[in-house]
Amino acid sequence: MSSKAPVSTNPDESGPAILGMTSEAFVEASATLGIPKVDALSAYRAFYRQGSITNDWFALEEMPMGRREIEGETIKFTLGLGAGPERRHETESVLIPMQGRSGRRTRTLCVSSQIGCAMGCKFCETAQMGLVRNLSSAQIVAQWFAARHVLGEEVNNIVFMGMGEPMDNIEEVIGAIRVLTDHNGPSIASSRITISTVGRIDGIRRLSKLVAEDGFHRLNLAISVNAPDDGIRNALMPINRAMNMDALREALQAFPLHGGSALLIEYVLIPGVNDSLEHCDRLCEWLEPLRCSLNVIPYNPRRDSPWPAPDEVSVDTFIRRATARGQFTKRRGTKGRDVMAACGQLGNPEIRRKRRPGRDRAS
Ligand code: SF4
Repeated sequence: MSSKAPVSTNPDESGPAILGMTSEAFVEASATLGIPKVDALSAYRAFYRQGSITNDWFALEEMPMGRREIEGETIKFTLGLGAGPERRHETESVLIPMQGRSGRRTRTLCVSSQIGCAMGCKFCETAQMGLVRNLSSAQIVAQWFAARHVLGEEVNNIVFMGMGEPMDNIEEVIGAIRVLTDHNGPSIASSRITISTVGRIDGIRRLSKLVAEDGFHRLNLAISVNAPDDGIRNALMPINRAMNMDALREALQAFPLHGGSALLIEYVLIPGVNDSLEHCDRLCEWLEPLRCSLNVIPYNPRRDSPWPAPDEVSVDTFIRRATARGQFTKRRGTKGRDVMAACGQLGNPEIRRKRRPGRDRAS
């Protein structure tokens, strides 16, 4: 029997990356070390299913857990990355309690695909950091591993709605999805995974190809629209100046929807910016040709926000109007607001302060 190969749960890319490997890739990599397929496969299953490896060929290293903040049942946690000065870089993830369709209590894990983000959406805390770095597939999967096996929580759904624009790091995101859905690994159904984008059309096309593959047909696509027209969207989301709403809608119409699935349209409702009835009507017209569900998200004020949160009446009025126009509409709850874990609030304020002088694009 050979000496043990370290199978690291440290997602630092300098280490062996079981976290970023499908079972097939792991078996192949293990074979080059002379490890029999049966042992590699049982190590892979134990690692993902029990969070441990009882196998003579491998040794397990520790997950670099960082801060943990809890508000009610919402848990925000970080993982430290890299070594030396890089060590201050952290992924941020949030575990959010949800009520399942059957009334069952479920947990959704919101993962980051980047540290910081280059997209500069005006309503978003993460935008204030700028882009620090992309995360590898291993570093994305590590967030699931930490939630499941370090915090010991069941994870029913995964949404790529944490820090970063997934389409800016699409190959690593797809690599992570292949691991998360691996039947020998986490085995999460693709219908329980949602990728959220600001509307990068090239990324939507790339994702269409993945969705065409067996096993990925039911992957969900969410699009952060947030405006009824190009004027408002240009002001809120710089991406719109390069890829406007007509071009975005065309790309969405071409996205393959299988079975009863629908696109998820996200609309952050910001007082005085995009929350009037006229805005609602124009949004519904734009949505008309799309099979979609509209998700209205009351704005969560970021640090130094120019806007307050909307009041209950305006949120209700907007949702009622959209519903009355025949648009299936839901409201997304605001969980984790007090620990800056709610939608659009992720981001390390220390990095933001360091990066901000001379390059504050978001306010
Ligand atoms: S909303 Fe998403 S895409 Fe826009 S800046 Fe924030 S993290 Fe980036």
